[in-house]
Amino acid sequence: MMMPSTSEPNPLLSIEFPIPFDRVRAAHVEPAMAELLAAARQRLAALAGQPGPRTFENTMRALDVLAEPLDYAMGVVRHLESVATYPELRAAFNAVQPAVSAFYTGIPLDAGLWRSIQAFAAAPEAAALAGERRRFLHKTVEAFRRQGAELDAAGKLRLEAIDVELTTLTTKFSENVLDSTNAFELVIKDEAQLAGLPPSARDAARESAARKGLQGWRFTLHAPDYFAVMTYLDDAAIRRQVYHAHSVRATSGAWDNRALTARILELRAQKAHLLGFADFADFALEDRMAHNGARALAFLEELKAKTEARFQEENRELEGFRRSLEGTAAPALEPWDVAYYAEKQRAALYAFDEEALRPYFPLASVVAGMFDLVQRLYGIRVAERPGVPGWDPQVRYYDVHDEDGTFLGGFYADWYPRENKRGGAWMDALITGGPVADGTLPHVGVICGNLTPPLAGRPALLTHREAETIFHEFGHLLHHLLSRVEMRGFAGTNVAWDFVELPSQIMENWCWERASLDLFARHWETGATIPDELFQKMKRARTFRAAGAQMRRLGFGYVDLLLHTRYRPETDGDPVAYARRILEPFTPTPLPPDHAMIAAFTHLFGSPMGYGAGYYSYKWAEVLDADAFTRFRESGIFSRDVGREFRGSILSRGDSEDPAVLYREFMGRDPDPHALLERSGLE
Ligand SMILES: [Zn+2]
Repeated sequence: MMMPSTSEPNPLLSIEFPIPFDRVRAAHVEPAMAELLAAARQRLAALAGQPGPRTFENTMRALDVLAEPLDYAMGVVRHLESVATYPELRAAFNAVQPAVSAFYTGIPLDAGLWRSIQAFAAAPEAAALAGERRRFLHKTVEAFRRQGAELDAAGKLRLEAIDVELTTLTTKFSENVLDSTNAFELVIKDEAQLAGLPPSARDAARESAARKGLQGWRFTLHAPDYFAVMTYLDDAAIRRQVYHAHSVRATSGAWDNRALTARILELRAQKAHLLGFADFADFALEDRMAHNGARALAFLEELKAKTEARFQEENRELEGFRRSLEGTAAPALEPWDVAYYAEKQRAALYAFDEEALRPYFPLASVVAGMFDLVQRLYGIRVAERPGVPGWDPQVRYYDVHDEDGTFLGGFYADWYPRENKRGGAWMDALITGGPVADGTLPHVGVICGNLTPPLAGRPALLTHREAETIFHEFGHLLHHLLSRVEMRGFAGTNVAWDFVELPSQIMENWCWERASLDLFARHWETGATIPDELFQKMKRARTFRAAGAQMRRLGFGYVDLLLHTRYRPETDGDPVAYARRILEPFTPTPLPPDHAMIAAFTHLFGSPMGYGAGYYSYKWAEVLDADAFTRFRESGIFSRDVGREFRGSILSRGDSEDPAVLYREFMGRDPDPHALLERSGLE
């Protein structure tokens, strides 16, 4: 790697549009961050020690833009590290991370800054604030309190000690899960034992064995292997063996997570008490739509009550289906039988092969149809602009204009897997700007995926799920690009965690409607739309065992909330056994006595905060998106009027208003779970 020449300015030091991705090198990272951190610290010191009267401008706005250049530069580097990494870049990124994150966590603990904010909050100007500015002051004060600003010196030390211990323990928790997962392998030598397994899974198992220098077929506990075995393998004894190994991960020897789990729960409770909350759920949810643990739990209770009957029915149907195959003497289903017989039942009922849809989802047509859809709904025009520098030849850049010609912003799309890119699909904001009328920067974002690439002379042909993924990430992107708020910290996707998936998930609904599918789902060779028979099968298969899927999510939500509210180690004992008792009513079969799912539940315990007390959000967001979509359905799924309202009340508002208020503004009422239940075939 060549050092950048001294005459060439460091491209990370100023916010530029288009972003100079072609000029950023690993060698720029450390000098840029050193300079930007020093500048941010200086601004912080000036803000904290400033003489004279406090005003919104010199205090709240100064705080809002305090770290903007640093945020931008770290955002660009973090992005490049995830889509175009190389050893020098990773090393540089890792080298700057500790100082940068220490700077951010230190902001709310800075006593001078906290005094400045309190001084402003007590000033007459603050009392007269309204709307977004009033909310910004209120939320800033609350956030500082939640992060310990009001604690005395001893309290701050105690908070720091708790956070350090939580970081250590949750890191260890994750490592134990990974190590105990990796410690298991099953090598099958006799091909007859593979009966039932599809060729793709056999090939993967064969390659996995070969990589280890073994003969035969190797299966691990990682998701693709585990689900293939549970879903397809005929041999029940092998399914049982793999199920058991999976369900007792991280519960023995050097990888035992049971005591760690209890201690993590204890520390989280202590942290909540220290900061003035009754329990960790109330602490974690204060700033979210649910606001507290009781409300989140009541939400789950309501859905559970409406799902249970159908859940029992589904389980009886599955038992009946098994007897139809194996006779009336067939044994009761065991946990390792459920996915296996359910797959057979699904195939028998729907004769639906997801692969049959692929020819109708060429990526270019999906993307073009989606742009057409948002033009109809929101009046915005999306157009590719060639020649804008990216980080890989696969990357495309697009401009977005409003119908009156205003330039709203731009985004990059990077859809295919590469070795230098991380897995999954995501959206990121790169520049938080605004509509470009007054010389400000535009909003700039990025959407990434790891979708099926073009193969052997064919365009990229996606699964239906992949098409939904594109719509989902584009929904997050619209939330960013259409944002019209005053405060930077309120822009776009900077909203409550149980609200942020509304703009993204609602987009997926257009992947299930005949009229919108016909815009973008076109056979790559003939241009034909999806045949009606195939469309009907796809719709019917959507609600197959939907109650079971819902109960599973609700069960995890319950365990999460109860552990973070009611669980007491003195009276409830081992948290793993406690969680098993709670999960039991949510599972289709009784659980084995050593079932220890939460000992491997990294969502909850793999990081200091994680999804702790927040797992309910998955269902919460589904209620919102299904419910909000009913307005489009009622007025026509291309309704410009409803589109204008959704843009005006949700997409443009970021966190400038309470999400419950925004939702009510759009719907005219509070969220109603009916639409989700109906979509899942439960009402
Ligand atoms: Zn999302």
